[in-house]
Amino acid sequence: MKISDLGERTLIKKIAQLAAKTVSPDMVGIGDDAAVTRLSQGSWLVTSKDLLVEGIHFLLPEISAQDLGHKSLAVNLSDLAAMGSIPRQVYVALALPAHLDSEFVLAFYEGLTALAEHFKVAVCGGDTVASPGPLVVSITAQGEVRREEVLLRSGAQPGDVLCTTGPLGASAAGLLLLQADIDCPTALRRSALQAHYRPWPRVEEGLWLARQGVVTAAIDISDGLLKDVQEICEASRCGVLLREEKIPTHPVAEALAPLYNQAPLTLALNGGEDYELLFTVPRHAFSALAQAYQERFQTPIYMLGEMTQERKVQMITKEGNWEKLEFTGYQHF
Ligand SMILES: [Mg+2]
Repeated sequence: MKISDLGERTLIKKIAQLAAKTVSPDMVGIGDDAAVTRLSQGSWLVTSKDLLVEGIHFLLPEISAQDLGHKSLAVNLSDLAAMGSIPRQVYVALALPAHLDSEFVLAFYEGLTALAEHFKVAVCGGDTVASPGPLVVSITAQGEVRREEVLLRSGAQPGDVLCTTGPLGASAAGLLLLQADIDCPTALRRSALQAHYRPWPRVEEGLWLARQGVVTAAIDISDGLLKDVQEICEASRCGVLLREEKIPTHPVAEALAPLYNQAPLTLALNGGEDYELLFTVPRHAFSALAQAYQERFQTPIYMLGEMTQERKVQMITKEGNWEKLEFTGYQHF
């Protein structure tokens, strides 16, 4: 049904019904002039805002409404996770082109609220307007953190080791498929598209890491390992030496990259949208942290290099050569 036939009030009522399952009874969610939520004692508020524009960040009709809802929230929760915070509430604003119908909007909210429910995040409000151009999704996400536990980009020291919570490049492999489809096994196709469309934010992992008190800097991998490690380097005024043999390329990237005459390593370094956490810890703290992490999450953390005094991004190749790396991944402008 056309949104204009359904009417804005009815659409918002339907959105409110979907969001209601994420909002606790003592909060004021959708339906008043503003939301009312509570902060735990001693907590600080963490806020992240993200804007996704059709044609730049996603393509219609390639991405389904549910996947778009999931991904739009996932990328915001990932930012909150990188700060070591517990996500609490989100606000969702949509600028809707006339060709989209109300079913699309509600399916978007189904995808979004399913992920919100999983992490006990309240969908508290937002806005819907008509767009004369592309679909625009804007999400504001808020979380809480103890001031002494907040993870920033700026605390890495030369000698700290650089780690990530998972293998990289699967989302970029999915993007290759979307840009130029080729014949490949169904399971591989499904995994690559799943990685691209339904990234899973490392919410529990970020919170856990923050509570260990040894992480010196953190960021989530949204633009690609090289670009994001550069952000840590700049904020922490240091450099990094990556070890090629240690960089965890995702099996999906290993399988798909060669079909496009690309190196899996390129997808891992420059691909982006992995939404794994990238963080630094003092070398002496690494093995205890890695062991405790493995016990808690049944999956390893990967050490991919170390921070250096020299303010460059460098890599020791498998052959033992030193290379200075240039970032070639996603540029916003
Ligand atoms: Mg981020």
